[in-house]
Amino acid sequence: MPCGRDGFLPRANISHQNAPLLPGEMLQYTLDNISLGETTMQRLYYNDSYTTSFEAQVIERSSLDGAPAVILDQTYFYPTSGGQPNDTGLLSGVPVVDVVIRESDGAVLHVLGGELPLDLVSGQVNWSRRFDHMRHHTGQHILSQAFVRMAQAETVGFHLSPDSVTIDLNVSKISPEVVDAVEDLANQIVAQNRPVRAWFPDDDELATLQLRKVPDVDGRFRVVAVEGFDATACGGTHVAHTGEIGMIKVLRVDKRGDSLRVEFRCGDRALLDYRQKNALMNQLAADLTTGFWEVPAALERLREENKALRRELRTLRAAMLDHEAQQLWQEADRSAGYALIVRAFDQWDSGEVRQVVQQLIAHPSTIALCGAAGEKAQLILARSEDLPHDMVAALRQGLAVWGVDRGGGRPSFAQGGGITASVEQVEAALAAALEIIRSEE
Ligand SMILES: [Zn+2]
Repeated sequence: MPCGRDGFLPRANISHQNAPLLPGEMLQYTLDNISLGETTMQRLYYNDSYTTSFEAQVIERSSLDGAPAVILDQTYFYPTSGGQPNDTGLLSGVPVVDVVIRESDGAVLHVLGGELPLDLVSGQVNWSRRFDHMRHHTGQHILSQAFVRMAQAETVGFHLSPDSVTIDLNVSKISPEVVDAVEDLANQIVAQNRPVRAWFPDDDELATLQLRKVPDVDGRFRVVAVEGFDATACGGTHVAHTGEIGMIKVLRVDKRGDSLRVEFRCGDRALLDYRQKNALMNQLAADLTTGFWEVPAALERLREENKALRRELRTLRAAMLDHEAQQLWQEADRSAGYALIVRAFDQWDSGEVRQVVQQLIAHPSTIALCGAAGEKAQLILARSEDLPHDMVAALRQGLAVWGVDRGGGRPSFAQGGGITASVEQVEAALAAALEIIRSEE
């Protein structure tokens, strides 16, 4: 449905996350009241974002996913659309848990947390949630226009939720300096406290407007303008003056394929973010006993120190393993005509025990029956190639003491375990394995 205004800025997709507009959402742009058979419903939030208490008549009762829902002759409740989440609040004391546009006719469906038997109801919109949405939605318009002016970047998606607020830009790269310039411009517009107007211009007036974004609809549609700065088609709720938005702060810019996702916050959310990050930074600086500006350098020093310590530790562990292996080989029991080493290690990594075992059986005529106690205890049984003993059979016997059957190997080298075992339990398993070795002689 081309609307014949191709002379304006490129047309962008208006709806949230680039999803196509639902039929109901199109109506959201084009009408401030809609006909529902015999009756008409008024979207009062279109002309007034600030009123939160009102009276209304229930004109239809319905349900959504099992929850009761009503349609009113007029409402200040904003339904989820255009990237902005729904309002919440009360209808005569009954919680309004969701507000949606009915696809078939654009009616605003108030989904309720309980039954609402009255026909004449009083509505109460949750103001702090609404105002937060108004600030972020208006902030988004300003930020989107600032990205057009400073970076020739068009906004192609908008998402607003309690946890994050983002816009998607149709460019794949933007420098941090340009993002700073965008932020500066946006905050200037806020400080100038410019009026924000939302209305349905007629065709003549529309022809005079430079719209940032034109909806793909026929006929009249709603325009939201930040005086002298930005005008765009929008169905959302906005503040009346830009100063109400408070600070606009970009938090991060992430690459997503060919586009960029810009996360930002306005007003109280920006303050909260600053408060949390400031506290975190102060804590980090205190922990590192340095000024906050020196935290990166202090972290870099720690990283280097850690690297050097790991290197030193590796060298020392290797020397310790060598020493341990030599010591064990010297103290080996040689009564059976070969060197026999039986040893349970505590607090040793099984990889380290394995290295000791390998060093031991590099000597001829040597049998090493070793184990590592701990959460993943292991038995490592091995012999030099010149002996006949079967280490797999010995391992099986050892593991049987633990009641497990996880392990295997070849006649000269076998390993298994994987359960939690104390040094005493490892010693008991090694003793059982040794019995098998002895029985083979
Ligand atoms: Zn808007």
